[in-house]
Amino acid sequence: MQRASMEPQSFDRVLSSMCTEPHPAARRAAERFLATNPGDPASYPAVADLEAEALEYLGEIAGLPEPHGYIASGGTEANIQAVRAARNLAGGRSESTNIVAAESAHFSFRKATGLVDVELRLVPTVGGKADLEAVESAVDDDTALVVGVAGTTEYGRVDPISDLAEIARSVDARIHVDAAWGGFLLPFTDYEWDFASAKIDSMTIDPHKVGRAAIPAGGFLVRDRAMLDALAVETPYLESASQASLTGTRSGAGVASTVAACEALWPEGYREQYERARKNATWLAEELSGRGFAVVEPELPIVAAETPQELFDALRSAGWRISRTGRGELRVVCMPHVTREILKAFLADFDRYR
Ligand SMILES: *Cc1c(COP(=O)(O)O)cnc(C)c1O
Repeated sequence: MQRASMEPQSFDRVLSSMCTEPHPAARRAAERFLATNPGDPASYPAVADLEAEALEYLGEIAGLPEPHGYIASGGTEANIQAVRAARNLAGGRSESTNIVAAESAHFSFRKATGLVDVELRLVPTVGGKADLEAVESAVDDDTALVVGVAGTTEYGRVDPISDLAEIARSVDARIHVDAAWGGFLLPFTDYEWDFASAKIDSMTIDPHKVGRAAIPAGGFLVRDRAMLDALAVETPYLESASQASLTGTRSGAGVASTVAACEALWPEGYREQYERARKNATWLAEELSGRGFAVVEPELPIVAAETPQELFDALRSAGWRISRTGRGELRVVCMPHVTREILKAFLADFDRYR
């Protein structure tokens, strides 16, 4: 039998991931809480207390003073829950319930709408952001949820959240913001993306991406407790009366490492890593456009550039973990582990093979 290596790969050449090395304190906390289950708070009260603290941090980061929600397995689960909650609250409506999002929304919304069997209406983008006119024509009385993305997966764009919220209100739908990746970057920008700056109902914000917590740690936040209650089921064999999470047993490691990472980094550490990422992205974009490649201007620290297929393949063969956008551009995510030295080494290979 061919044995796979028990050594995880290093982050030296990983330019495609939206996850990163956990903060050392987050790694330690994750190890200590491996054998705890926040899904059963009556049996595991210590991690349940930590989860309340994790939510306080996420609420502070996302402008929500009295946060409700929980630490999920990731952004996919949080997005599924937003769709389920909106669908449940819209219950009693006709069978043509739909949710509206831009084409730039994460593919997890396809899983979510498939699971609960509601229609997903995808509208075009302008400049990588939801086209408001298209959203306005797509919504109707059967729209349960409008989704805005704050930091799109491909280009790091932020949808006009306040405008989307207004459109949602106009048809009595709820509005969810997917800040799975962008949530730990956006507090240091001028974007209006959070609960404080827009009348949004729910949010996905993942500690296990830019938040530097260990995987699995996703964040699901709601403004109004009723949205969480709309997800709850009774739990006969547990001491706690009900459960709103999608999974039963959950990762205490994710919860504890979220608190440890936030304690260590919020706000100044996160600000510093945002500033570093922003400068690296600007630098890489300039280097690539200086070489004559068409670059999509980074707004948040993701750089996309049109590069020939052969060059992309050569860089992959040289061990660089890079990915492509749907349009085929080379895409580099400037995560905290992506230092200027790593980008310089990448560019040296880029020049070697171009
Ligand atoms: C990564 C990502 C997701 C999915 O999160 P997982 O933790 O991978 O399940 C959802 N939305 C956006 C915008 C993302 O970047």
